[in-house]
Amino acid sequence: MATLGLVNIGALATGDLAVPRQDVESILVEGGRIAALGAASRTAARGADVVVDCRGTTVIPGLIDSHCHVVLGDYTPRQKTVDFLDSYVHGGITSVVSAGEGVHAPGRPHDPAASKALAIAAAKCFEHFHPNGMKVNAGSVVLEPGLTDQDFAEMAAHGVRHAKYGFGGYAHPRDGEPDVRRAQKHGLCVMSHSGGNSIPGSSPITHDVLLHLRPDVCGHVNGGTTSLDEEGLRTIVRETDMALQVVQAGNLRSALFIVAIAREAGALGRVCVASDTPTGTGVMPMGVLKSVCELASLGDLAPETVIALATGNNARAFRLATGTLAAGRPADLVVCDAPAASMAADALTAVARGDIPGISAVIVDGEVRVGRSRNTPLAKRLAAITGVAVAGAGH
Ligand SMILES: [Zn+2]
Repeated sequence: MATLGLVNIGALATGDLAVPRQDVESILVEGGRIAALGAASRTAARGADVVVDCRGTTVIPGLIDSHCHVVLGDYTPRQKTVDFLDSYVHGGITSVVSAGEGVHAPGRPHDPAASKALAIAAAKCFEHFHPNGMKVNAGSVVLEPGLTDQDFAEMAAHGVRHAKYGFGGYAHPRDGEPDVRRAQKHGLCVMSHSGGNSIPGSSPITHDVLLHLRPDVCGHVNGGTTSLDEEGLRTIVRETDMALQVVQAGNLRSALFIVAIAREAGALGRVCVASDTPTGTGVMPMGVLKSVCELASLGDLAPETVIALATGNNARAFRLATGTLAAGRPADLVVCDAPAASMAADALTAVARGDIPGISAVIVDGEVRVGRSRNTPLAKRLAAITGVAVAGAGH
């Protein structure tokens, strides 16, 4: 496999909330993983087979959309759109986590056998299917009454790592608590729906239900799409250690409130950013990037901190290997700069102003998948890529 070097990096967001920004001039990638970061003289990145000259621009980890409504293939039945995952890579998203294939599967089965089968099928299909390099963490079983210990053991053995709670056939949302425990016992990361009914057929999940269910992640805790009450949110932040997922397709006022109270409580490490698309809100390739800009510009957080919420925090909450830039990690990288017309001089300052940066390269496992993004605004300074032909993007 060809080696890859990134040189002339102007700024680096690490994805690690503890050290969200580092002065790094170059990155060397070998075998799809980051081999070295630091001064160009030390990493020898300039001598790699493929060289991305960042020309003073910013490198961030590939964004993770931890709430993505995949079913099978690169197709969303909800919006009848093909190639949306391919397009999300152009929005800087290199990994997604399925929010339960059963949620949007046409004909949505409600029996445990179908729910299990669909999760296993999705996990195995997406293990081998990477649209535009996208890592699709699929195989998220929608919890249904009747799933047994043996079912969970079988799913875990076949690559199912996640579970979604909130769209099953339970009479009351509280009734699924034993199944949440069973899924967790078998190593699955459980994300619950939070807030009002987002689609016909789902039930509202209030803060006291979440406290009873104790999932690993309170999915779209800023409402999907109707927000929870503020006191309830304070209780969740104060009295639990559940991850708090805020999404683009939720309530922005509530997202800003959650980020503020989490920061106050020293719990920013639990906040993760996702899109919750494709949904009724649409197909949004820039959904995560847009949330990052909104939370940084309106929530008074440093841009590199919000980037960590959309990368390293997602990886920690959903147990993924990606999301942070450090030696040994998969080389999922985004090169970006302030958009051409921005008052900002660089990508991080643009994010702080609420301007969506222009992406000039997206790299997955050390392979350049996207040059100039077809979705973001044009970057002021474009990365120059040598040693490989990258399909040009259209503006
Ligand atoms: Zn959702």
